[in-house]
Amino acid sequence: MVLAQLGGSISRALQQMSNATIIDEKVLNECLNEITRALLQADVQFKLVRDMSTNIKKIVNLEDLAAGHNKRRIIQQAVYNELCKILDPGKPAFTLKKGKPSVVMFVGLQGSGKTTTCTKYAYHHQKRGWKPALVCADTFRAGAFDQLKQNATKAKIPFYGSYTESDPMKIAVDGVETFKKENCDLIIVDTSGRHKQEAALFEEMRQVSEATKPDLVIFVMDSSIGQAAFDQAQAFRQSVAVGAVIITKMDGHAKGGGALSAVAATKSPIIFIGTGEHMDEFEVFDVKPFVSRLLGMGDLSGLVNKIQDVVPMDQQPELLQKLSEGHFTLRIMYEQFQNMLKMGPLGQVFSMLPGFSAEMMPQGREKESQAKFKRYMTMMDSMTDEGNTNPKILTESRIMRIARGSGRLVHEVMEMLEEYKRLAKIFSKMKGLKIPKKGDMSSL
Ligand code: GDP
Repeated sequence: MVLAQLGGSISRALQQMSNATIIDEKVLNECLNEITRALLQADVQFKLVRDMSTNIKKIVNLEDLAAGHNKRRIIQQAVYNELCKILDPGKPAFTLKKGKPSVVMFVGLQGSGKTTTCTKYAYHHQKRGWKPALVCADTFRAGAFDQLKQNATKAKIPFYGSYTESDPMKIAVDGVETFKKENCDLIIVDTSGRHKQEAALFEEMRQVSEATKPDLVIFVMDSSIGQAAFDQAQAFRQSVAVGAVIITKMDGHAKGGGALSAVAATKSPIIFIGTGEHMDEFEVFDVKPFVSRLLGMGDLSGLVNKIQDVVPMDQQPELLQKLSEGHFTLRIMYEQFQNMLKMGPLGQVFSMLPGFSAEMMPQGREKESQAKFKRYMTMMDSMTDEGNTNPKILTESRIMRIARGSGRLVHEVMEMLEEYKRLAKIFSKMKGLKIPKKGDMSSL
């Protein structure tokens, strides 16, 4: 993923600076030059990057820093703050209220990933206890209804559309009415796109919006346009009341950083990013955790979201509760390995853990890591329930018994226990973490 490359370049620059014996102006400049280059490569606007660099230099006055201050930390914090500033739209994302049916209208150009994103959005909320439904009011593109139908069926989400009706407003209104009667609380209306911004598209958008009175209009755009996202987002905002933006195809394009920062500059909150063609390649976008992850500092709120994606709904409250109590047992590790093996993609989950991803899930070596999980699980299978809950009681003789029972070597059992300790340490940071309530949109 391109963002991972951007994050990698920035954290490498910070790391190189950390390796320097003394941090003087030259070292700081080298680090900032590296970061500048990485951001420009990601198509972030030159002025934003230049201002960021100037601000950091202003904040980090090396001579003024009293001895004993941790200069590296201060610099890392300054980079973090400046990146957050670039991506901050200056206003919070719109949240839907619970307890009444909400209508969400999706708009965007043809090919931006709008239809795919509608289903991803519905699926995301379904996993969090909402009752979503999809309405296909795209009568412009041939095959749009079939595509939505296919996606919706796969995700077991009710859908509405027509092969014969050509009036998008009629379909939208009928669909919304139908699902309101069925007590759906998140009615998603997919509208037509066009290849480019044109009067007919904006007129149709305005009419569908008038007819359905959506609680939220989400503008979907493709990240590959980079900085040009600014003009596109502005044009859509001027035609309908865009409340939030979703940026797609962040997995494949070098210009993702440019698109993110350009949209933020239009003061539109980005709420999700699309990171692949599959239903679950969809991530909540929140500036601070995002930047934290980009700099390799981990993203525990993202982890909670991933847990909601990969762990079956009936098991989520118990797991989140245990983790927020700082309670992580071998049994939990086992169950999570099981979930992850079943549902994947593992890399996404591990990338949320501070300092964990690179070692546990080397890119392109997912098969190896899966084999490792399976090996660990065989060893855990030959442990008693007591050992599984409380690994502290595992004495040398018990470890030998586990090795014999699972047909593995003692050092492999030790390795598995080390892995457990490492994970437990990471998860202990989740202690006190706010647990989102079932179906709580404010957790988005
Ligand atoms: P629409 O015309 O805006 O409704 O676009 P579609 O939903 O039909 O998507 C156009 C193409 O983009 C399809 O091939 C999708 O599978 C693909 N697509 C959508 N979102 C993503 C994403 O986040 N990553 C990648 N790689 N492909 C995506």
